[in-house]
Amino acid sequence: MIVLDAMLGRLSKYLRLLGYDLIIVSNELSDDSIIQQYGNYLILTRDRNLAKKAPRSIYVNSDIVTEQTKEVLPVLPKPEHEKFSLCTICGNPLIEVLSRDNLPDYVPKDKDRIYYCSKCNKYYWYGSHLRNFIQSMGKIGIEI
Ligand SMILES: [Zn+2]
Repeated sequence: MIVLDAMLGRLSKYLRLLGYDLIIVSNELSDDSIIQQYGNYLILTRDRNLAKKAPRSIYVNSDIVTEQTKEVLPVLPKPEHEKFSLCTICGNPLIEVLSRDNLPDYVPKDKDRIYYCSKCNKYYWYGSHLRNFIQSMGKIGIEI
């Protein structure tokens, strides 16, 4: 489990796509209460003070998500889950939808695989978002 501060919202989506279990902390929490609650975890943060105070932390330098990914991936442990197996919004494991009946209209029925997050009531499939993600990872030398 990795802890991210609220300034790393886009990075959290990327890391979830790669299979990481994350906790995203509210920006209303003070540094001290973040450390009190999450000090046992590795904390990724854009806040220099928090990075200094936390026992295990990575200070994220860039504010560009691909650069952030490039900064942190080499020092992170292996992800807990397969890539593309988690909901990018809540981190819940996705379940594969086996029947094409009763899907909402916005879901393309011709996809080989469709996944569902029961927490967010959201469907996922291989489409342009994922293609863009894989492309931008390729540009920073990370093969997906
Ligand atoms: Zn979800």
